[in-house]
Amino acid sequence: MHGTFPLVTSSAEATRRLGSAIAGVLGPGDVVSLTGDLGAGKTTLVQGIARGLGVEEPVVSPTFTLVREYRGTVPIYHLDVYRLDRIQDVLDLGFEEMLDEQALVVVEWGDAIQGLLPQNHVEAELSIPDEDDRRRILVAPRGPAWLGRWDRLFEVTTPWADTGG
Ligand code: ADP
Ligand code: MG
Repeated sequence: MHGTFPLVTSSAEATRRLGSAIAGVLGPGDVVSLTGDLGAGKTTLVQGIARGLGVEEPVVSPTFTLVREYRGTVPIYHLDVYRLDRIQDVLDLGFEEMLDEQALVVVEWGDAIQGLLPQNHVEAELSIPDEDDRRRILVAPRGPAWLGRWDRLFEVTTPWADTGG
């Protein structure tokens, strides 16, 4: 079973806790691609990932700065490619160099640059099922390297498993 696993959170803080849990499985060289509408919780999840990696400064959306760098136990690049019209703009930001560094790279709207993502990456697709604070989060490990690692990812996220109840 190396598929997608459905999760659910009931508050922004729960999404941060989920991010921290996921961070425990992530390390240098890993890439996480986040998709989902505005307000779905992509930046909130990154706040949790950064917290889990010991980042103490506030993590805010890189919507206008396009990329922010944090120094946790692992260097983190946090990108938001929503405003970038062309793949070339992402390359101009130094995206490929970021991938070459021993850093964790997290990309909001990563589906827009699917062709630039390495084969091995984790996708998380966030959605808002109704009007309250619930968020659905589909986590999908991609690529052969994650074949050997997905079970750990699955394990740390089970507290948020969406059992459909
Ligand atoms: P995005 O980066 O996808 O545009 P943000 O993380 O910036 O989304 O915003 C999500 C908004 O939704 C925040 O205002 C957050 O407080 C709120 N929110 C409410 N419930 C949740 C939840 N379960 N998970 C994440 N964010 C939530
Ligand atoms: Mg955002």
